[in-house]
Amino acid sequence: MNYHTTIQQQLDKIKQENQGRSNKQILILGAGMAGLAAGYELAQLGHRVEIWEGSPRLGGRVWTHRFKNGQYGEFGAMRIPASHDYTRHYLNELGLTLRPFINSHRETYRDFEGIVCKAKDAAQKIGRLFNLSRRDREAIANDGLDGIFLRIMSHLLSYLDKGDKLQLFGNCPLSDKLNYFDSQSLLQTLHNYTDTHDAVRLMGKATILEEYWHYSTAMFIREEIDEAFSGLEEICGGMDKLPNALADAVLPDGTKLRDRIVFNREVCSINQDNEGVTIKFKQNGNLEQKTYPYVLCTIPFSVLRRMDLQMSSGSKKVQDAIQGLGYQSSTKVLVNCTKRFWELEDNIFGGASLTDSIARMTFYPSDNAELKDREISQEAGVLLGSYTWGATARRLGTLNLQKRGKVVFDKIERFHPQIGNYLDPEEPYASMAWDRNKWSAGAFASSQPLDLQRFFPEVNQAAARLFFAGEHLSPYPSWIQGALWSALQGVRQIVLA
Ligand SMILES: Cc1cc2nc3c(=O)[nH]c(=O)nc-3n(C[C@H](O)[C@H](O)[C@H](O)COP(=O)(O)OP(=O)(O)OC[C@H]3O[C@@H](n4cnc5c(N)ncnc54)[C@H](O)[C@@H]3O)c2cc1C
Repeated sequence: MNYHTTIQQQLDKIKQENQGRSNKQILILGAGMAGLAAGYELAQLGHRVEIWEGSPRLGGRVWTHRFKNGQYGEFGAMRIPASHDYTRHYLNELGLTLRPFINSHRETYRDFEGIVCKAKDAAQKIGRLFNLSRRDREAIANDGLDGIFLRIMSHLLSYLDKGDKLQLFGNCPLSDKLNYFDSQSLLQTLHNYTDTHDAVRLMGKATILEEYWHYSTAMFIREEIDEAFSGLEEICGGMDKLPNALADAVLPDGTKLRDRIVFNREVCSINQDNEGVTIKFKQNGNLEQKTYPYVLCTIPFSVLRRMDLQMSSGSKKVQDAIQGLGYQSSTKVLVNCTKRFWELEDNIFGGASLTDSIARMTFYPSDNAELKDREISQEAGVLLGSYTWGATARRLGTLNLQKRGKVVFDKIERFHPQIGNYLDPEEPYASMAWDRNKWSAGAFASSQPLDLQRFFPEVNQAAARLFFAGEHLSPYPSWIQGALWSALQGVRQIVLA
């Protein structure tokens, strides 16, 4: 069931409201998914749109890294849940092909507490090392090592009625019940619903959510309601096909959005007054400025908080949110292999091996999961050798590419001792430490306790001339769906302004 305005309802409403209001001049800051979708829709509605992008590329945190040998892997977004109707709307409209993204696979490995075993044996071989109550032991026997977490989440969901669920996805204040979950960290909540400290320790490892202990419980409840890990798919040929297809879609006047993007234009300051919004930007080493009647800013708050911002009165909550909204760190390390040894020798087709070492999660490609074609298995393939969050991601981020690759390689070698025979000699690794990426200064927004009460819904209310959009302003932070949902909120606000 849907707990939000569907994209079709939203687009229809905007189209109706736009009647007699087109031809506004709008500057969009940022050519990530929010900026591109907003630009596309505003241009469809007959407005004059320009997009400024600080970096030399479009797509923002949708970033497919392509190795010289033609192989690729994802630095950012990699999977799309069945429930993400905003994302799927654009995928359909742009004619992109999807295939299943395999999130878990029985033949993958678990490497916890010094023991390496197959995922299918982990509940028995690793679970027994933890001091668990009878009900928790039953939970892992039934559902695997993350069974205790699943038990608790389904228990928490049973407290919420339809009204509560709607509030979590709407632009409205939360009930007392939800405020409570918003104020509790995940760690506090899990402690309240387990019988031993070891149960929490096991959950932290088995779900890799240790790196989320101090974020708000409400965020996890919302993802659970959204069924964010069901029916996952990926775009055949790489996730960057989505932003590129959006930029290349033909607009009503025969032009493309790509033609309206100015690249390498770094915004340095934003000043809103009654007349318009003045943006200072770097151009060929010089500082210049321009004023526009309407600006939609999709620059992440983690970047914006380092800039000089002057906004009209009445926007205190927005300014507080820009400074204080919680963000998460993430690092990914891609390992370029000459042969898919994991398919040939381990029968692994997709899914992830998990470890309590610094590598944390090793994802296998899903592209051969349906066919299991042995000829494809003989070919080159890219492992997402390490996907990490939090302090682990920051630690990896301090290392240079070669060291980062080697550290991850050493950890993967524990469950794939043959990996050394298959590293691409020319370009073995590629990596993105999102905290160090100047254009995002973090991976994605993640609610800290009280964030929802402190900043929402006011942060989403319409301003005079300067509007904000991006995943961070949506009920789907850390997903493309969030960027698109908030882009349409921004489009609507501009249309009505
Ligand atoms: C590691 C990781 C994994 C993810 N996994 C998934 C997933 O599996 N599925 C999913 O749906 N989503 C996933 N996401 C989230 C998804 O990628 C984002 O939510 C979405 O792409 C954000 O879009 P956005 O437009 O809000 O922001 P961005 O993509 O960050 O766009 C903002 C744009 O602003 C530009 N910019 C920044 N500063 C300036 C400046 N000063 N001047 C001008 N331009 C500037 C940036 O270069 C960028 O292009 C993941 C993200 C990360 C980092």
